[in-house]
Amino acid sequence: MINEFDTIAAIATAVSNAGIGIVRISGDDSLRIIGEIFEPYNKKKDAKNLESHRIYYGNIMDGREVIDECIVLIMKGPHSYTKEDVVEIDCHGGVSVIYRILNLVIAHGARPADPGEFTKRAFLNGRIDLSQAEAVMELIDSKNELARRNSVSQLKGNLSDKIKKIREEVLYQIAYIESALDDPEHISLDGYPQQLAGLVDNWIEITDKMLSSYDDGRYISEGIRTCIVGKPNAGKSSFLNTLLGEERAIVTEVAGTTRDTLEESVTIDGITLNMIDTAGIHDTEDQVEKIGVQKAKKEIENADIILFLADSSIPLEKEDFDILEEIRDRKKIILLNKSDKDTEFDDTPLREYLNEEDPIISISAKYNEGIDDFIKELKNLMFHGRIDTNNEMYITNARHKKALDDALTSFQCAKRSIEDGMPEDFFTIDLMNGYEKLGLIVGESVEEDLINEIFSRFCTGK
Ligand code: GDP
Repeated sequence: MINEFDTIAAIATAVSNAGIGIVRISGDDSLRIIGEIFEPYNKKKDAKNLESHRIYYGNIMDGREVIDECIVLIMKGPHSYTKEDVVEIDCHGGVSVIYRILNLVIAHGARPADPGEFTKRAFLNGRIDLSQAEAVMELIDSKNELARRNSVSQLKGNLSDKIKKIREEVLYQIAYIESALDDPEHISLDGYPQQLAGLVDNWIEITDKMLSSYDDGRYISEGIRTCIVGKPNAGKSSFLNTLLGEERAIVTEVAGTTRDTLEESVTIDGITLNMIDTAGIHDTEDQVEKIGVQKAKKEIENADIILFLADSSIPLEKEDFDILEEIRDRKKIILLNKSDKDTEFDDTPLREYLNEEDPIISISAKYNEGIDDFIKELKNLMFHGRIDTNNEMYITNARHKKALDDALTSFQCAKRSIEDGMPEDFFTIDLMNGYEKLGLIVGESVEEDLINEIFSRFCTGK
């Protein structure tokens, strides 16, 4: 039977030939195992009695055979990642070396760790809460600087602190109401509901604010789904290539050759765009093109923002207007491409299809002009100019969003009961609900299945 706290081991670095590989061990047997397989060069150091938070240099041995020359780090619990005794073996990063050492550690009594099991132990042993554990995963997955910053902030406990503060306040009020109901002679609830209403308003405001950061948070962590549309030859592929800084999409002068969709991820100024270059949306009898057009429509539907690219060296045509009609109500940026060509462009008919906030930017994909303006407008449109300046926490995790949504509903119910003059024990039910929902974020009273599910998404060795 697997013991939840037996000694586990895993390769913590990427398994490929690299400079260094790390095998990590955690649990009560860690020090015994390293004592059996490690010979420090400094013979005065007995491998069975290595000191905590020291680094040792020596050989990993399988009996009399030297497996590799390594550095060994000792971190005795509770001052370690998992709060258990942790040993890290830094070996040469060859796949065969790392596996040989891992297998040796396992042969000496450790069990292979499940994905995320080290972090799961850090959580189960109370070193971090669930939102911090999730931040570890987001940090590893972070695609850009903003996502990294947000994950670190969550890892440091910024989200947990906010949640814990509201929960403490809620619990205090629940306890107050209950003691007053138990002991009405000594504790009066006169005027209390009005006072409570003020507090509930504050909880609603904070929860609501966290929830409203979710879209920004998603754009930061997952990237913005950006769909480029425009008729063939408008310069979509060229624009994509300019952004990517390399010639990865097909650039061609033959209309309609970008038949399928092409997705590329590009990070500029800390913002990740998941760019989808679509086939043009136009009437066509060509079966292959037809499929491309249908796919383009689907991509438009799923996009967070549409970039409409027009060739500004020629007047707009029916096909441009068909596309504009398709994206009329969407969040979009109009890019008037080929600004290097010296031609007059009349944008009056274009404006009839636009909303007031839709930016129009002149660019030249070919000569890399107007790209800075585009990025500036994009940031404005997606983050309302907020993103660079503040150190706000963004909610990036769908599980947290759901819990906040539920907590908000409970606080709103409590507020309504207060306004309707309902008896006090009515509020306590809703307040308790809100308290419990917020608790899910930090991992309180979370079902074991959910915990297992969350950690199974981690990589092995983390
Ligand atoms: P797509 O069909 O919309 O993907 O268009 P392409 O990117 O394949 O470009 C079509 C043609 O327009 C190519 O010959 C490009 O070199 C040219 N082109 C693209 N952008 C510009 C630009 O900014 N200025 C000029 N002069 N030509 C461009």
